Amino acid sequence: MNKDDLIVITGAGGFIAGALVKYFQEKGFSNIRAVDKKPLPEWYQRHPGVESLSLDLSEKENCWRVVEGAAEVYNLAADMGGMGFIEKFRVECLRSILINTHLIEASYWAGVDRYFFSSSACAYNTELQEDPNVRALKESDAYPAMAERGYGWEKLMSEIFCQEYWAERGLKTFMPRFHNVYGPFGTWDGGREKAPAALCRKVIQAKATGSGEIELWGDGKQTRSFMYIDDCSQGIDRIMHCDDLIATPINLGSSQLVSINELVDIIEQIADVKLKRSYKLDAPRGVAGRNSDNTFIKKILGWEPNTPLREGMEKTYHWIDQQYADRKAGKRTIS
Ligand code: NAD
Repeated sequence: MNKDDLIVITGAGGFIAGALVKYFQEKGFSNIRAVDKKPLPEWYQRHPGVESLSLDLSEKENCWRVVEGAAEVYNLAADMGGMGFIEKFRVECLRSILINTHLIEASYWAGVDRYFFSSSACAYNTELQEDPNVRALKESDAYPAMAERGYGWEKLMSEIFCQEYWAERGLKTFMPRFHNVYGPFGTWDGGREKAPAALCRKVIQAKATGSGEIELWGDGKQTRSFMYIDDCSQGIDRIMHCDDLIATPINLGSSQLVSINELVDIIEQIADVKLKRSYKLDAPRGVAGRNSDNTFIKKILGWEPNTPLREGMEKTYHWIDQQYADRKAGKRTIS
């Protein structure tokens, strides 16, 4: 890649793609086109010097327009959120297939060199995730397929698109399966937020109101691993530029497994507070356990996401705390 080759990043008004734009800008890339369907004032991050377009990429014409002249396309646009969103709005999640379907076709005809699709650990067979003491998921565990309803099936099907565009048409495609990403500039309120941000907000709220209580979704014993945003950006770059990973699903996630109760312990330590916990057992909770088996990524890249959870949560907590204060003061915030 030359530093002035055009990079197109979709979903750039959201969390991960917004961070990716910043990552490439800081690496010296000067020709970045950022696209999101949200109106520009609602983007989580805007970066001066980046061409920012507000366009709905489920429309074919818009996809053809945005990839014109691109060397690389990173598709991170999707209608998604935490468990509260993906269990309730399965149709919206499934409809994201339109984005990838049009964008990959347009990229092929535009002569794009490399195409990236952000897949998810929700593509894995849910029957392997029924125990909190879960065996970490390796790449082959997606098949036989029994993905998360709606969201997971869209990811699995779009992965297959990516694989066949390589097999049949020679387009170099890349498709890591992200495991729960968290960090500053992620959604923290409003219904689409994920567990780390939602729990930070609840702790901050409990401190601010003096309630002394926190409500958790599920029994708190469900387990997950959480990847810090900087590891995610770096992993995307490493995977996209590794020819051994063309058309190959690969885990991109942390392998530090914690229960939701343990995650709350960490946030309480950061916030210097101890709260009484109640458990909402009928709330969306997702699978019982999920972790990332990083054997493959370590073998191929000699690297894995490695920011300690405590360190990443510290930064995330303080950022949300500031957002909370800003909102209270009537200032603009992202959620
Ligand atoms: P996000 O919701 O913050 O960002 C997604 C962006 O896509 C949003 O800004 C949204 O407006 C945009 N978008 C939705 N529909 C669009 C359309 N039709 N046209 C143009 N833009 C559209 O989510 P995120 O956390 O940044 O996730 C980015 C990608 O990573 C998604 O594909 C998501 O499925 C995947 N992923 C994320 C996680 C995670 O933990 N955050 C985990 C696994 C996979």
